[in-house]
Amino acid sequence: MTINDSIKLPQSENKLRTVSILGSTGSIGRSTVDLLASNMDQYKVVALTAQTNTKLLVEQARILEPEIVAIGDSKQENELRAALSDTSVEIVSGEKSIIEAAERSADLVVSAIVGSAGLRPTLSAIRQGNIVALANKECLVCAGDVVMDEVKNSQTVLLPIDSEHNAIFQILSENNFTEVERVILTASGGPFLGWTEDEMANATPNQAMSHPNWNMGQKISIDSATLMNKGLELIEAAYLFPIFHEKIDIVIHPQSVVHSMVAYIDGSILSHMGTPDMRTPISYTLAWPNRMTVPSERIDFSKLRDLTFEEPNINKFPSLKLARDALSRGNGSTAILNAANEIAVENFINKRIGFLDIASIVDATLTKVTGYPIKSLEDFEELDRESRATTFNLVESWS
Ligand code: NAD
Ligand code: MG
Repeated sequence: MTINDSIKLPQSENKLRTVSILGSTGSIGRSTVDLLASNMDQYKVVALTAQTNTKLLVEQARILEPEIVAIGDSKQENELRAALSDTSVEIVSGEKSIIEAAERSADLVVSAIVGSAGLRPTLSAIRQGNIVALANKECLVCAGDVVMDEVKNSQTVLLPIDSEHNAIFQILSENNFTEVERVILTASGGPFLGWTEDEMANATPNQAMSHPNWNMGQKISIDSATLMNKGLELIEAAYLFPIFHEKIDIVIHPQSVVHSMVAYIDGSILSHMGTPDMRTPISYTLAWPNRMTVPSERIDFSKLRDLTFEEPNINKFPSLKLARDALSRGNGSTAILNAANEIAVENFINKRIGFLDIASIVDATLTKVTGYPIKSLEDFEELDRESRATTFNLVESWS
């Protein structure tokens, strides 16, 4: 269970809240840095990590003065070390260094690495008993049972950053799960909502990355165009909240004003609204259980003309059905789905396959690979390897 009111972040006015950011140079990472930089009287940064962007990592380290910075690509260590030689910041590099940073004791670890690469570091942060603010939805899609078991064993909590889940988390804060009838996840529909299949068949990576409402990293932008992002979010919600997945609906809401809704047994529906700015949900995890001032644009209701809702078209966007079916099937199917999607998206960006091929290749991988229950990180890693190899071969032979 996500919400555990017995665990609170430090409340003392004199004590700074300590925070680490895994993936600080990404879209979520940069928004988090922005919030922390404006509230340095309340936070102390422990660790920052990045994979390759040394220049930005250096800038962030100079502003936030963390204890440690980790760069995944060890070839960049010397450059990082030289650029921070006049500071006392500890510098580490390589894949293991990200884990080392995640394991540092902090009140809150923001998990904002993209893809399954975020799983190991996130698990390490949880095992350490750190509270994790989770943006990296893929780690629940890959190994949701393993992650949630670790959360329980370590007696910590996951605070969702993903805007829809953060919205539901805010609405559900009374722990009233038994009175919930349905959860409604909203989806913008992405850049291709009104496009025909023929148009989508010829869509370029740049067109797929041009999200109408949100400014995000490459992979999640493509996932939003295929609607796989909403499929991943359905799986994420099923792990985060103790609500049977068949009670989770997905509705297209192109304006991205309502971030999600919870329908109760008495017919009441509570929604969470805001402008599309990830600093709002991130801030809710940084300040939880309180709130902080965020300089995001406010909704002007006098200018809001339409709030529309429609059913998603699963024939045009089959990824949604692939994700829901994988969730129902269990047996590691969501890990296979994630691996296939990561490889297919990479190959779409490299222009080796077309936009519509992404879902077809994910579907073909799910047919070819036999899953099994993921009970450990090792189980996941084996199935992930096999799934990636299968998808890779499918891409090679795709015409
Ligand atoms: P991004 O691509 O902008 O940033 C990814 C970060 O991860 C970077 O700091 C990068 O250095 C790091 N990274 C990449 N590969 C790595 C590896 N192999 N090992 C260690 N670090 C690595 O991604 P993003 O858009 O910020 O998304 C991050 C996560 O948050 C994703 O799981 C995404 O689905 C989720 N999310 C993002 C948004 C958004 O608005 N961007 C909204 C909701 C959820
Ligand atoms: Mg989202």
